[in-house]
Amino acid sequence: MVRVAHVHLSACTGCLISLADSYEKLPEILEAIDLVYSITLADEKTVVTETDEKISIERVYPDNVDIALVEGSVCIDDEHSMALLKEVREKSNIVVAFGSCAATGGINSFSRGGQDPQPTHTAFLPIGKVIKVDFALPGCAPAIEGILNFIFAALEGDTDYMLPYAVFAEEFMDTNGLDLARRVISQSLCMGCGTCAAACQTRAIKMYDGKPNFDMDLCINCGICTFQCPRISVSSTVFNIE
Ligand code: SF4
Ligand code: SF4
Repeated sequence: MVRVAHVHLSACTGCLISLADSYEKLPEILEAIDLVYSITLADEKTVVTETDEKISIERVYPDNVDIALVEGSVCIDDEHSMALLKEVREKSNIVVAFGSCAATGGINSFSRGGQDPQPTHTAFLPIGKVIKVDFALPGCAPAIEGILNFIFAALEGDTDYMLPYAVFAEEFMDTNGLDLARRVISQSLCMGCGTCAAACQTRAIKMYDGKPNFDMDLCINCGICTFQCPRISVSSTVFNIE
């Protein structure tokens, strides 16, 4: 059975809630996998030391994980998160950036320190800036259909279906609405389909005269507009003059 871990870094847990919202599909997923690590979906603890009255309890990331779903961006001021992320990479065959905070930095990109409840935490990065990520599933939170399709494709080893997620992990960890404008619209590749506007969860994109307009004050760097744009794959190659 496929050994799956869910790792929670800096995020609101919305991605996991989106998965849990699948209702009838969640038991099917849990039956198809061996969930070996999750501090949110499971409550397993290992006692590592015991002194007089004090018990130290640690949740241990296991060896030989097949798929690690990492939710949240990583706070580079937090040694524990950085160490956990590196341990996840070392012990996992496949690492998936699950949701926009992990994939592109998302709304955590706007952190600057001094903000409650963690004022000392100043800098958050998409996890691909710290470790090699195999697949990225953007969305704030990702739509449940997308999560389910990805999970079942991963369980079946459907690499064709998973290819765009691999490309996104490799090429788009910094993307946002402005990046889509630069890569597609500024290169005259936009066909005015409106997919980006429909996908944007903050309504930062509106269609005028058949073309998208961006309000970057509303953009949360989720990257889903780039992921959904049917012309983005063309943009990587069209003006790539060797
Ligand atoms: S424009 Fe919208 S969809 Fe695109 S990155 Fe910004 S918030 Fe996300
Ligand atoms: S999804 Fe891409 S092609 Fe479609 S309107 Fe947006 S930028 Fe243009």
